[in-house]
Amino acid sequence: MADHRTPLRDMRFQIYDVFDFESHFASLVGRELVDRALLDAILDGAGQFAERELWPINRTGDAQGCRLVDGQVQSPDGFKEAWQTFVASGWSGITGDPTYGGQGLPHSIGQFVEEVLSTANMAWTMYPGLSHGAMNALDAHGTDEQKQRFLAPLMRGELTGTMCLTEAHAGSDVGLLRTRATPNPDGSYAITGTKIFISAGDHDFVDNILHLVLARLPDAPPGTKGISLFIVPKRIIEADGSAGEPNGVECSALEEKMGIHGSATCVLNFEEATGYLIGEEHQGMRCMFTMMNAARLFVGIQGLGCAEAAYQQALEYARERLQMRSLSGPKNPDGPADPIIVHPDVRRMLLTQKALVEGGRALAYYTVQQADLAEFGADESIRQDADAMLDFLTPITKAFLTEAGFESVNHALQCFGGHGFITETGVEQLVRDSRITLIYEGSTQIQALDLLGRKVILTQGKALLTFLGSMQATAKACADALPEIAEPLRELADEWGELTLTIGASAQEDPDEVGAASVDYLMYSGYATLAYFWARMALVAHARLSAGDADPFFEGKVATARFFFARMLPRAEAHRRAALAGAESLLALDQAGF
Ligand SMILES: Cc1cc2nc3c(=O)[nH]c(=O)nc-3n(C[C@H](O)[C@H](O)[C@H](O)COP(=O)(O)OP(=O)(O)OC[C@H]3O[C@@H](n4cnc5c(N)ncnc54)[C@H](O)[C@@H]3O)c2cc1C
Repeated sequence: MADHRTPLRDMRFQIYDVFDFESHFASLVGRELVDRALLDAILDGAGQFAERELWPINRTGDAQGCRLVDGQVQSPDGFKEAWQTFVASGWSGITGDPTYGGQGLPHSIGQFVEEVLSTANMAWTMYPGLSHGAMNALDAHGTDEQKQRFLAPLMRGELTGTMCLTEAHAGSDVGLLRTRATPNPDGSYAITGTKIFISAGDHDFVDNILHLVLARLPDAPPGTKGISLFIVPKRIIEADGSAGEPNGVECSALEEKMGIHGSATCVLNFEEATGYLIGEEHQGMRCMFTMMNAARLFVGIQGLGCAEAAYQQALEYARERLQMRSLSGPKNPDGPADPIIVHPDVRRMLLTQKALVEGGRALAYYTVQQADLAEFGADESIRQDADAMLDFLTPITKAFLTEAGFESVNHALQCFGGHGFITETGVEQLVRDSRITLIYEGSTQIQALDLLGRKVILTQGKALLTFLGSMQATAKACADALPEIAEPLRELADEWGELTLTIGASAQEDPDEVGAASVDYLMYSGYATLAYFWARMALVAHARLSAGDADPFFEGKVATARFFFARMLPRAEAHRRAALAGAESLLALDQAGF
């Protein structure tokens, strides 16, 4: 397998040239001190850690997997040591509140680092990823005492976190969960129940783990309105912060699974474990959503990371692998055959990967810019608008980037032919690893319902309308330089609005129309957003080329934008027609007829 390189060139192009993160950081309140030198140092440092520490244990972690020995999970060789280096280098609390020992950097920087690490080793990055989610929930909803006691050690990397929602009978429908929380006389709670599929639920990185557990109080109403959130340490935390007695939490099994073998996926039994309420009683879903929204962006980044890693391998292979001659005559006349990169359909697969990876990166960066503005924007109206845009783009980022990521890794495998199917090249691992991203943190179906139902119809398309305005403005800006992009982008902006109105009207007649249209609507939205971001990237690159910069990187940008509009955007039309086809053909068939 070829070496892995952190995609710093494209990251920097997008960060500085397309989205102007320097001005963006300068506009934030309380996060304005990030300059280019600092950001470059962070990106370089993360890249070195990823390439030197994480990539070498990606394959071995997959082959070894985690083991459950005497009730304790042992991670694959090198995982614990990589965690120690990660913590010692100060990565564990980079976006955390400085009051509790964090470094106070904006969310976007945390996401850039997550991207770099996930691309090199998705399974390992699950552990800090879950901790990051726990930090967000505690930061937003914990008391000051809870933050001192739990958040500060999480940021120092002395503890890791988990997110315990799923039970055997409660997956997408979290409201069905049965784990109980009974008040103790001292103000704590006794937590009893079984959670399944808990990532980083047990491991050997550190002595103690903070489980964030959803459970029901005795008087709780049914459904999601009756769920509360609790902090449940694996071992009782003593007054001096050290790990004390075991706390009624047992890892009874490790799931055997298709991919991310280095990530421990645990069955956790809670038996009268001591827990502490976070936030208000029965408000657990609200608190958990703080964690889940960040986690959704993180999972989108995982899809992107797998696709980037696979694309690098496929590109290198396609340049070297000699098979058959080009249809238009030899391109490597001195060799026995031409490299497969000359064949049009291999180029289609490579360009599809490039278009999805770099376009997806742009979507992710724009979305996280909204997350920064929603919290640290200069005034209330900036914060509110950014929050609405973040809400709107989060399900698209999560679901489209994971769907696109999985498609992309499959193209990479196909570029390798039979050599991709065998384990030696490592690409099949990326196919297996990336598959879960379409399922956890709300499957594609759940994201699609969220997008169309809550984020578009319920808000009467507020953020969508703003986004359509940006598409129109970019189409105008492209009109002279890139007319072949400008016109379809303008039409797309009109069409997306009309599609939404039509589906919204039919949903008023029959709510099943939302469920019937939702995934096609989400995929349409994904292609439409990528069209907008490809136009923006092409504009910047075109300006550089016009100014005399002959860097092939910029040629690649413009060519890929043209490829996206010519060869990939037509998929949006198929999704549009399917979304408009209505629920009838889905619901007409009686169950017995399947
Ligand atoms: C490796 C791994 C790690 C995980 N990590 C965690 C973790 O750390 N913490 C945690 O709490 N959970 C975790 N999970 C659980 C994960 O979030 C759930 O698997 C996921 O939410 C789906 O739930 P389910 O598997 O029960 O599927 P179900 O909810 O039973 O869904 C089955 C299928 O039905 C579809 N579906 C369900 N409802 C609808 C609907 N209304 N409309 C359309 N389609 C629908 C789903 O999309 C899916 O395709 C993990 C799972 C795995 C496999």
